[in-house]
Amino acid sequence: MPRRSRRAHEAARAEPPVAAPRKLPLVLDSGEHPEGAIEIRTIARHQATKVYRCPGCDHEIVAGLAHVVVVPQEDPSARRHWHARCWDRERTDRESAFRRRRR
Ligand SMILES: [Zn+2]
Repeated sequence: MPRRSRRAHEAARAEPPVAAPRKLPLVLDSGEHPEGAIEIRTIARHQATKVYRCPGCDHEIVAGLAHVVVVPQEDPSARRHWHARCWDRERTDRESAFRRRRR
């Protein structure tokens, strides 16, 4: 699958986070995220050639397993690889914690 264009990226950012679908979007609007804007990149099975450690469960993401990369837009070198399921849970936790803090 080709990467989304710049135009698609901006369109995704304009969507309100409450309307985000449960499935992982390629790019998450993270204006609502306490750590700043982040980009979610999906890594397909054939692209997963290295072993990473998932910060969500502290287990390895084995080579050949589709997963996601969370890239802080202000510091792309601080990107982390997550199991898709772990990130989905983490994202939900962060968003609800952030919403609680704003009240
Ligand atoms: Zn994990």
